[in-house]
Amino acid sequence: MTELIKFHDFTTARTFLEASRDAVFVISDEKIEYVNEMAAKLLGFERAEDVVGRWSCEFISPEDRRAQYKPAGKTTPFRYELKFQRKDGTNVDVENQISLIEYDGRPASLVFCRDISERKLFEAKLDAVHKHAIELRNVETLEEVAQSTVNTLNESLGFNQVGFGIVEGNTLSFKEFSVSSTVKGLPLDGSGITIRAVNTGETQVVSDVRRDESIVASNSHEQPETLSELAVPIKIGSETFGVLNVENSELDAFDENDRKLLETLAQHVASKIATIIEKEKLQRSLRELESKNQELDEYTYAVSHDLKAPLRSIQAFGELLLSDTSKLDTDAIDYVTRINNASSRMKRLIEDLLVLSRVNRKYLDVESVDLNRLIEQIEMDLEALIREKNAEILYSELPTISCHRVWIQQLFSNLVSNGLKFNRSTNPKVWIGSEEHYDYYQFSIKDNGIGIDEKNFPRIFKLFQRLHSEDEFPGTGAGLTICKKIVESYGGKIWLESKPGLGSTFYFTLSRSAFDGGGMTP
Ligand code: ADP
Repeated sequence: MTELIKFHDFTTARTFLEASRDAVFVISDEKIEYVNEMAAKLLGFERAEDVVGRWSCEFISPEDRRAQYKPAGKTTPFRYELKFQRKDGTNVDVENQISLIEYDGRPASLVFCRDISERKLFEAKLDAVHKHAIELRNVETLEEVAQSTVNTLNESLGFNQVGFGIVEGNTLSFKEFSVSSTVKGLPLDGSGITIRAVNTGETQVVSDVRRDESIVASNSHEQPETLSELAVPIKIGSETFGVLNVENSELDAFDENDRKLLETLAQHVASKIATIIEKEKLQRSLRELESKNQELDEYTYAVSHDLKAPLRSIQAFGELLLSDTSKLDTDAIDYVTRINNASSRMKRLIEDLLVLSRVNRKYLDVESVDLNRLIEQIEMDLEALIREKNAEILYSELPTISCHRVWIQQLFSNLVSNGLKFNRSTNPKVWIGSEEHYDYYQFSIKDNGIGIDEKNFPRIFKLFQRLHSEDEFPGTGAGLTICKKIVESYGGKIWLESKPGLGSTFYFTLSRSAFDGGGMTP
């Protein structure tokens, strides 16, 4: 139990308490025994006598009354916060510091009480600023950022003349939603405090605009009735995106707290704007990249297409030569055969290039495709190879998906035929699996083939890159590049797990929403 502080003579203590800048109460048995003048004023009374003798809980706001502090068992002095209810019914936030004393021979509480309503108000406003930061997470455009910031300044922080300026090239534009102004394109080499905040990157507080020469000279956008103004740059590091400003028709209307609130708000806004700008830049580069890729595809398509005709002539003349070998010696027959083989290989390469260049063309309709039927079709196409290699294709119930049939068939066909081709087992097997997820499908094509060394994983997806000679395993090295392009054009990924000698599993995903858009043509 805490020792009670005993005053030899409370009358002497009174002299000090009267002079205190804090409100002071002495309370015993919940009755007010003593208050100084500050305390009476705090409660809305003229004289101390009007308060002495009343129950202390009369002056505690109803919501805090039940939770009223019981000092028992606490060491003193101790502090707590609560709301007082004034004579006129209004509330005031206070912080009490309590010491236990002996008053008139009885235990009592000596309460030093401080009005903290300003601090509380500031804390509530700071809360609103942090809430605004959370709100900004769901905002997408610059207009929305400005609108929600202006709302917060108005509604939660209580500023009534507010502006949100954005730097656009060499000018500062106050958007239409600015309450104080709809000015557009203020030149940044002009004057006025918002311009100054942008140019210096520093907060500007003007307590009397009539005394600020640059404002008087600028014929600026500030409201005619504006007397004080606060402008805070919206910036990250040395980059300033804009400015927040608040104006007031009273002199010296803004204090240190207002400045802190606006600066914190401006920081949140700046990081959001930076994210939006970054995202816009990224989208722009993506669009550019897409259009470059498209150009490249068109170019590849045109060139491959044009190469077909001369190649057909070479093949035709080669075959003509070989149709009557009587005029050729053995060397010539060998050379012409080689020319023919090389040109058929070239024909296959050109055909693969044509397929590759067509992957992104958008014409074809999306259709509902039962993948079980699609794999049956692929099995029929590969029948000769399956029979020759004593191979099997295994799968359990596959989904029906909306897709561009031709491309999805090409994708499965390339992966399945690779699983059979790169396989030295006496009974090659390919297993096809599927998983359905909320917004995508994941498929796997697993084989018991020769496997691939991890160091070659990136290489095999590159155009015309092969790990084996044509004699060992025929092919052009374009199949996986085509697969990757198809998968990526549907917002998916393709990857693999494999070890030499232990088979390979290729995985790919297809986004469900990717087929909602336009069609593609083979
Ligand atoms: P291609 O089949 O015409 O050679 P791909 O682009 O389909 O071209 O494959 C590239 C290379 O990746 C192949 O040459 C082969 O070395 C390797 N590869 C692809 N699939 C498999 C697989 N299932 N098992 C082992 N190696 C594979």
